[in-house]
Amino acid sequence: GSTIGMVGGGQLGRMFAIAAAKLGYRVGVFCGSSDEPAADVASFTVCGPLEDHSAIEIFARRCDVITLEFENIPAETIAACGRHAPTFPDASVLATAQDRLREKSTLRDAGLPVTPFAPVTNAEQACQAAEQFGWPVIVKTQRSGYDGKGQHRLNNAADAEAVDWQAGGEWIAEAMIDFEREVSVVVSRRADGVSTTFPVFENGHRNHILDLTTLPAAITSQTQARAREIAMEATRCLDVVGLLCVEMFIQNVDGEQQIYINEVAPRPHNSGHVTIEACRTSQFEQHVRAICGLPLGDTAMITPAAAMINLLGDWWGANGEQPNWPAALSVDGVSLHLYGKHAARPGRKMGHMTAVGSSLDEITERLHRARNALA
Ligand code: ATP
Ligand code: MG
Ligand code: MG
Repeated sequence: GSTIGMVGGGQLGRMFAIAAAKLGYRVGVFCGSSDEPAADVASFTVCGPLEDHSAIEIFARRCDVITLEFENIPAETIAACGRHAPTFPDASVLATAQDRLREKSTLRDAGLPVTPFAPVTNAEQACQAAEQFGWPVIVKTQRSGYDGKGQHRLNNAADAEAVDWQAGGEWIAEAMIDFEREVSVVVSRRADGVSTTFPVFENGHRNHILDLTTLPAAITSQTQARAREIAMEATRCLDVVGLLCVEMFIQNVDGEQQIYINEVAPRPHNSGHVTIEACRTSQFEQHVRAICGLPLGDTAMITPAAAMINLLGDWWGANGEQPNWPAALSVDGVSLHLYGKHAARPGRKMGHMTAVGSSLDEITERLHRARNALA
């Protein structure tokens, strides 16, 4: 097909649309309002609430294949799309990825290493889980959390009592992993099962939000290979077509690097933005190729080292004043990506910067220098 539908208007949809346009596709975007980031670069936009099946069916009729950029789309909405065009990922992938309990259970039952977890609904059950895993534990809402929202670290029974258990619906408790590194692997997979993985990204978070991605990850090549295998297996077991990002913790247990899956996301991932400059094929182009049944691209790095730093709304002035872009751009070799969002809020992802080169230390120093020059 020659028209791709993207459900969702955020920065992931925007960078996807740019990659698709480069390959000659028309991209239609379905989103809540015409000033969302992806709408700016789309061939056409259909606006409406996600629950409005009539609006989304009008959209779907204009598309040859449909994909999405966030997993919290009602499964019925994606099923409605599927009546008009092949939709990747499909409703069953979303149903799993929307629910931490179902997601973790599915991966565990497939024999994959996931963070130890248990469903809980109150303080008493959270304490029971903590007796089993050891304190501290982390409790998360089963549904609709992102950027660490809806999560609490519990150090003791008093912390468990302090949680507003009614507010979150269903919860899970997880063992708190004392990890050495956090990494992610983006997998692409076509409908016929052909798939690739990108090199392992190492991720540093600040306030539960991704701050810095570096590659290569500082883990052994054996652990990298194992992480890529695990991610590939997770993609097969969930039967994802398109992209799947697998977030993992690497824990040092008696000198061995142990891998735990934290969570998965069936879409382009913030950590994968670095591939635009760092790899032969970007995650966005690979997504296009995968859902269109094209040959998948080479994921190899084209540079010895690369890094990506996020730009949150905190860098904007209190009255929305723009950061000092010329100062950041005067730092040599820094690629700036802005998402065209109109309103800056603290913690909101507004853009990112990437640098590539031969030394990771030197690249990350440059990115911090460029970011610090913004204020
Ligand atoms: P997003 O979808 O934006 O990645 P989220 O709200 O789904 O975020 P998680 O990925 O589950 O949240 O957790 C956010 C961060 O909190 C993780 O990247 C990790 O740094 C930390 N974290 C989460 N769970 C654990 C755990 N069991 N042990 C140790 N750290 C954890
Ligand atoms: Mg998440
Ligand atoms: Mg996460």
